[in-house]
Amino acid sequence: MSTQQCFSCGAAEGMVHFDGRGETVSVKGMERRIDNLSGWECQKCGEVELDEMCGQRYSDACDELVIASRKMVGNEMRRIRRKLHLTQKETVQLLSGGGHNAFSRYERGEILPPKALILLMRLLDRYPYLLTDAKTLGEGADLRGFEHIVHKEHESLSVS
Ligand SMILES: [Zn+2]
Repeated sequence: MSTQQCFSCGAAEGMVHFDGRGETVSVKGMERRIDNLSGWECQKCGEVELDEMCGQRYSDACDELVIASRKMVGNEMRRIRRKLHLTQKETVQLLSGGGHNAFSRYERGEILPPKALILLMRLLDRYPYLLTDAKTLGEGADLRGFEHIVHKEHESLSVS
């Protein structure tokens, strides 16, 4: 059994070499199994250092999983948007704000939508009739309209 001093806690011969280990990584509920990992693990503090090739394989698998989960969320966003009969542009104007192509980037899985937007889309998926309320409330929250009202009141005050 090969051992070495732990670089983390300093325990002499603390680190024991292992191989053939499998680990499951999980991102947003998606899981991926990575087999045949080898490296060092400290028996004292639990610190793990994967061998170089395995570390690369491990981080590649994590990257793939992150990309896959963004695609999954993107597909979900597209499905819900279509169910609500909204164009990407309408969805941005109504729900998310941001640039006109923001939503298409979400749907392509290039970037993960903000958590609040995912939640909002899932709520609308479950209760599609709330879309009417969302439209009304969205208009009421328009700050340019608010500023306009304040401005007019101010004008009428200075006239009298
Ligand atoms: Zn240690």
